Amino acid sequence: MKLLEGKNAIITGASRGIGTGIARVFAENGANVAFTYSSSEAPALELEKELSGLGVKAKAYKSNAASFEAAEQLVAAVLKDFGGIDILINNAGITKDNLLMRMSEADFDSVIEINLKSVFNMTKAVQRTMLKQRKGSIINMSSVVGVKGNAGQANYAASKAGMIGFTKSVALELGSRNIRCNAIAPGFIETEMTAKLDEKVVQGWREGIPLKRGGSPEDIANACLFFASDLSAYVTGQVLNVDGGMLT
Ligand code: NAP
Repeated sequence: MKLLEGKNAIITGASRGIGTGIARVFAENGANVAFTYSSSEAPALELEKELSGLGVKAKAYKSNAASFEAAEQLVAAVLKDFGGIDILINNAGITKDNLLMRMSEADFDSVIEINLKSVFNMTKAVQRTMLKQRKGSIINMSSVVGVKGNAGQANYAASKAGMIGFTKSVALELGSRNIRCNAIAPGFIETEMTAKLDEKVVQGWREGIPLKRGGSPEDIANACLFFASDLSAYVTGQVLNVDGGMLT
């Protein structure tokens, strides 16, 4: 029996990077996967096909995680298409880095809305379904930057630290209904995006990490698998750093 056999998961922002890695690992473990994207339609449809080939139900939805109404509409559509929701992964996120002196109000607001308000939108939207089922696992993709802070990322760090406070509060509010809520704080994860960076710079980052390598989307996906499955049935309100020891 696979760890997520027959469970229905929603993953936001799975058209590339970490979200795609989570969608693959979840489908390999038997989960039906509903996932969103913002503008990358072609890779999203390709992923939908790839996941369906693994024998699970999979569907891509174009949906703006920052919009309260869009989150409500998305969850209604997923319930109609899949019949239930057991797992929510709030993974969609952006960066708009700058020193505070140069950071515009618009860049602060958009990062907070897409990274943090989206978590409120989606959690509100799935809450009633999970309360009725008396079970559910919500996983929020924070960052080591939310735990530690980072110069040049005040907006991003605030959004990711906010997710941690939200995670712990939801764990306290919904624990009595068997709904768990945990956060993952990835360190430096190598994706298509980091592959375009200067190799010497990236190598310098790797050397600063105790495990001497960047993480992969699969490393994050495996932590999600733990939180989504019954292996973590007695774990809620936690933040797991998946960072090769970076913050240790
Ligand atoms: P990524 O490659 O940039 O992918 C971001 C995903 O989010 C894409 O699927 C994108 O869709 C989607 N997205 C962006 N804005 C959205 C919106 N308004 N509504 C719905 N979806 C939206 O990012 P990543 O590196 O995989 O990171 C995933 C998550 O992990 C983020 O929350 C990030 O902050 C966090 N994280 C990443 C790292 C790292 O090293 N990579 C480290 C710590 C934390 P489109 O493709 O359509 O634009």
